[in-house]
Amino acid sequence: MPKTILVTGGAGFIGSHTCVALAAAGYLPLVLDNLGNSDRRVLDRLARISGVAPEFIEGDVRDRAMLDRLFAERPIAGVIHFAGLKAVGDSVADPIGYYDNNVHGSFVLAAAMQAAGVRILIFSSSATVYGDPDSSPIPESAPLRPANPYGRSKLMVEQALGDLQRADASWRIGLLRYFNPVGAHETGLIGEHPQGRPNNLMPFVCQVAVGLRDQLAVHGGDYPTPDGTGVRDYVHVMDLAEGHVAALRHAESQPGLVTVNLGTGLGASVLDVVKAFERASGRKIAYHIGPRRPGDVPAYWGDPTLAQDTLGWRATRSLDAMCADSWRWQQGNPRGYEG
Ligand code: NAD
Ligand code: UDP
Repeated sequence: MPKTILVTGGAGFIGSHTCVALAAAGYLPLVLDNLGNSDRRVLDRLARISGVAPEFIEGDVRDRAMLDRLFAERPIAGVIHFAGLKAVGDSVADPIGYYDNNVHGSFVLAAAMQAAGVRILIFSSSATVYGDPDSSPIPESAPLRPANPYGRSKLMVEQALGDLQRADASWRIGLLRYFNPVGAHETGLIGEHPQGRPNNLMPFVCQVAVGLRDQLAVHGGDYPTPDGTGVRDYVHVMDLAEGHVAALRHAESQPGLVTVNLGTGLGASVLDVVKAFERASGRKIAYHIGPRRPGDVPAYWGDPTLAQDTLGWRATRSLDAMCADSWRWQQGNPRGYEG
């Protein structure tokens, strides 16, 4: 009997790709999403990739009564918790809304799991918890000093789940700190489709390549990096998805809490991404160097050693593959799931 895994936020970017990885690993993903930042048509695409669409429940993780019913009715073996809000700028403008969704939502979920006796929880944290690091690569032991409400919401949940595991040693918790997830499933059937003007680099580059935007504004060309542009650790979303399966298997094998970085350990500059995307797409990406973006850190990338040692996971897909897969998705779906 395949084990049922509740995937909160499973209709979103990383959650949908993780449903593919879960199905490939023999699990039954059960998606719970309020569709606040996603489209139910992703389910048809998941069916085309995996042969069957995951079961879908439209609902909010803050709805305790609904969660209690769900845990009572289904043989849920564990939970991967993606549901949350992720725009740094919005979190500065609406901190309470962010704490309500990301922190309160996680508490309601954990309390429902506690009551139902479900003890496996894999949580989407973020490298944002490190803030501006002293040096890179960043190990998990680096100081935690998030610089905005979004990052603080992730750190609060990490700390609360740590307290929970110390209070009840039967919990099996994975805190996964993602670096910069990009790319799409290799079929180009699922991917990232931000609403409105993209904040993030890769979706913006995709939209320039496909002709939806005139040119990329590179946010700063005078950083102390090899080419003056910001450096980040881009990680393919399918590598990330497989990292969740590895974390789930680890949690199944032993109680406890693990905190790991999911990144490649390699830094790429904005211009490295532009060049890789040009190679992958055969299109010229017009850009100009603009001012720095307030709040941006010049450069950081993760140390992936602990993920390799504890989970047996490491990223295998290159920056060229990330760009090629993003491009395939963008070309086939210029308006996202609207077709
Ligand atoms: P996403 O917005 O595509 O997915 C999040 C999903 O959660 C969406 O489908 C949304 O509708 C749903 N959702 C939001 N609040 C909900 C609620 N209260 N109840 C039920 N569903 C809800 O974002 P993503 O990029 O897939 O990110 C997934 C998780 O990973 C988030 O927690 C995010 O903070 C974290 N993360 C993302 C990144 C990144 O750069 N994409 C980096 C680090 C961490
Ligand atoms: N960036 C850019 N132009 C854009 C968007 C992003 O130059 O339109 C840069 C940004 O300054 C950073 C890198 O690309 O150096 C990655 O930014 P993104 O917003 O994708 O992720 P972040 O690292 O901020 O989470």
